[in-house]
Amino acid sequence: MPLQFNSNKSQGKAREKYMEAEKRIKKIHNQYPDVEQAYSYLNSLKREYKMLKVSLFNREKDNENTAEELKKEIKQLEDHYHELLKNHNIPLDYKEPTWDCEKCHDTGRIYRNNQYLVCSCAKNDLRKRKQKNGNLPQHLHSATFANANLNYYEADLVTGSGMNYRENAQKIYSLASSFVQKYNSDAISQGLIIEGPIGSGKSYLLGCIANALIDRGIHFRYIVYSDLLQQIRSTYNQDSPEADEKQILNTVQQIPVLLIDDLGTEKATEFASSTLYQIIDHRYREEKPIILSTNYSIKNLKNRFPVMGERIFQRLLEMNKYLELAGNVRVKKIEERQEA
Ligand SMILES: [Zn+2]
Repeated sequence: MPLQFNSNKSQGKAREKYMEAEKRIKKIHNQYPDVEQAYSYLNSLKREYKMLKVSLFNREKDNENTAEELKKEIKQLEDHYHELLKNHNIPLDYKEPTWDCEKCHDTGRIYRNNQYLVCSCAKNDLRKRKQKNGNLPQHLHSATFANANLNYYEADLVTGSGMNYRENAQKIYSLASSFVQKYNSDAISQGLIIEGPIGSGKSYLLGCIANALIDRGIHFRYIVYSDLLQQIRSTYNQDSPEADEKQILNTVQQIPVLLIDDLGTEKATEFASSTLYQIIDHRYREEKPIILSTNYSIKNLKNRFPVMGERIFQRLLEMNKYLELAGNVRVKKIEERQEA
């Protein structure tokens, strides 16, 4: 499903802008009665002129002189009106709504070649809403496969498999991109476990995946596991905690694609372990993919969760391709910023 255009909301925005402008006009006209007088007189003259033009069109030649005189009068009054505005420091365009988007005047659509097209502002608004719904953090909003600069990965350092870091990153990016392109809710999609050291660009890659899912109209949820646990814990202090906890778990269990960033930064408690098992086991049985990133090797992750570890990661390895991202993108980006 491609990006869809929500016309009601955008048209509502345009209507709001018109109402805002109307309020402004009223306020100015109340404050400066001379401006209002000039404006309404000018309008009545313009109406009269329009009617005269219609009668001229109907070949009523007698009105020709009257029309010419009226035109002159309108011009004079217009000058007077503009002079008044200038004297009161009122901008000439005070009656114009202030548009957020000059291209579509906040209607979200543009009429071109006999058809309505979705304006880029409406596409952006929709994208932002979907990013917010998916819980994608602000710093990943502009992460896309097209924008990713893989030159940050060293070409002169080699991974255990013999590939250099850049080739390795290219391979992983292409697998991640093809995960999104091939994803189909009716078929089993193998997810990804992306292991890599701090600063290797794992979160950025998850951002690319999230934004590409938006392009395909696929729902996702991005979580940092420690935040999720915190969120669940905080529901215990409220009045009807069970429904809330259930709701939170339901979302991460049911969402078509779940992105778990930075697994392993949470405290390795029994609660963390059993909750993770619940989520993973549920998704495993429903054949819903997980994209997971972590600083830890699978072996170390297993050791972090002593009780459920073996079962959790057996499931995970069955469901996912295991990939190791090498390199330190963060340092490169900081160096680049300092040089610039
Ligand atoms: Zn627009």
